Amino acid sequence: MAIHPDLLELVRCPKCRGKLEVTAAGDGLDCHACRLRYAILDEIPQLLIEEAKPLTAP
Ligand SMILES: [Zn+2]
Repeated sequence: MAIHPDLLELVRCPKCRGKLEVTAAGDGLDCHACRLRYAILDEIPQLLIEEAKPLTAP
């Protein structure tokens, strides 16, 4: 299940308005500037800062 590229162009980090990167598994969107991960549920990005999870260091 992949997020639609057009949708990806529209979604921005609600915190910094930066571009988001889809995770390898396609189940989330990462903001590297904020080091936050937004979940994708039923192909709908959950762009809520309070719902975002901190990115773990690789
Ligand atoms: Zn951000």
